[in-house]
Amino acid sequence: MPITAADLRAAAQTAVGEDAVRDTALVGGTAAVRLTAPADPGQHDAFIQHAARAVAAADTRAGQSLRAITIELLDDSGRVVQSKTYPAVPLEDAAQHHRPISGLRPQPAPASSKALPDVRHVIAVGAGKGGVGKSTIATNLAVGLARRGHAVGLMDGDIYGPSMPTMLGLDPLEASVVAGMLQPFTVHGLKAMTIGKLVDPEKPLIWRGPMAHGAFKQLVEQTNWGELDYLVIDLPPGTGDVPLTMAQMLSLTGAVIVCTPQKVAQDDAVRALRMFQQLGVEVLGVVENMSYFVGDDGKEYDLFGKGGAAKMSKRLGVPFLGAVPITTALRENSDAGDPTANFKRGPLADSLNALVEATESQASLAALRQGKSRPTLNIS
Ligand code: ADP
Repeated sequence: MPITAADLRAAAQTAVGEDAVRDTALVGGTAAVRLTAPADPGQHDAFIQHAARAVAAADTRAGQSLRAITIELLDDSGRVVQSKTYPAVPLEDAAQHHRPISGLRPQPAPASSKALPDVRHVIAVGAGKGGVGKSTIATNLAVGLARRGHAVGLMDGDIYGPSMPTMLGLDPLEASVVAGMLQPFTVHGLKAMTIGKLVDPEKPLIWRGPMAHGAFKQLVEQTNWGELDYLVIDLPPGTGDVPLTMAQMLSLTGAVIVCTPQKVAQDDAVRALRMFQQLGVEVLGVVENMSYFVGDDGKEYDLFGKGGAAKMSKRLGVPFLGAVPITTALRENSDAGDPTANFKRGPLADSLNALVEATESQASLAALRQGKSRPTLNIS
């Protein structure tokens, strides 16, 4: 009998204590375990080895079905501070070599993306229909990730209706090309590129399928993104040619789906979710935007039926990443091109930070499942 998810969790908990185990996942022969890092960095290696050894032992007891074991250590803010991946081998071999987990060796990480090998996580933000706040969420997600110390790019892949020039305040800036490559705009602590700065903003952007494909491809390939921890891509609404192009070109960590609480918005969101699944893109989770209203009195008012998206996520078995309130500040800051202002104190900032943290967590879990996690230290 192959090792079960319950065996894996039990083994990790027995090894390092119940409180230290954040998540465990068992996917395609890889066991992934995320632990709270010990306060003393000097103990990190031993902690990882201890956990890996316990998982290897549980796998041996269950008849050895694992191909790899990945252990990640996270700090209090959920950031990965250390990560190791080992091919799983029989524990008897380890005993022969008199090493704690000899035979378990870090594996080289596979390239994370087809077209962008220097980008660790590509996250697409999609929605079933327009106007639900997809671009707003993509922008704030990117800004929030950058505020947490990551190198972040934001690509406006909504080539039919680019909104980044306004949302990021790019209007006074000019696009520049160096050595044949578009230079991204460095704003709000991130690198951004939008077709809205390359075409006449007054002209409607009517793209037929092959043109849409070409425009998207150019934004991905001809922008000088450099090394990034995250590239957030704002997709056009609905289920068109662009997501297909994207899935063919890039190896995505996953997609985030934005919807509003209403039933009709959720029906559209389910279609978007199915599309990503058909394209082989993992769904990192669902965000409920315009979930509730926070009055000047600081009280929450339920306008549209808060909680619909959380229920939908549960029904579909995908994570719920968070609810963002409808606030005047968010609209005003978007119109003014100042997304950083959304992260000042208050309910809006709290909801955005929670969303960013949940997405970061789901992205690293997804990367573990996909075997993209990068070991940072080798053991000999
Ligand atoms: P989409 O990309 O889904 O078409 P946008 O992100 O462009 O939608 O948002 C549409 C409009 O709604 C924008 O003016 C934006 O500022 C506003 N908006 C989005 N989310 C919120 C929110 N939570 N509170 C207030 N206004 C919002």
